[in-house]
Amino acid sequence: MIHYSCDMCGKVIQTEEELRYVVKIEVYPADDVEEENEEFDALKDDLAEFNLEDDKEQEEGSDDGDDMEYKTLRFDLCPECHKAYVRDPLFVKSYRSRFFDN
Ligand SMILES: [Zn+2]
Repeated sequence: MIHYSCDMCGKVIQTEEELRYVVKIEVYPADDVEEENEEFDALKDDLAEFNLEDDKEQEEGSDDGDDMEYKTLRFDLCPECHKAYVRDPLFVKSYRSRFFDN
């Protein structure tokens, strides 16, 4: 049997007795540059030609680059933390209170 623990408070979630909540977060750059795409693609082709000799190096580094661009995060939450999380999903309130409510 799989035991889950809450990613916020660390408590073990008793799935027979309480609900486990899953939070999935996707972070990626918005595709807001449609008008420039043609130009950008041409530029990319130029760069690809220019960088042919560096292909190996690029491949090695590409994983890190992709991680920066697109990220999915998944968290398990206990019912109490779920309640707190949906009230302040990006922790904006606690972030603000830390800096502005001295
Ligand atoms: Zn919790």
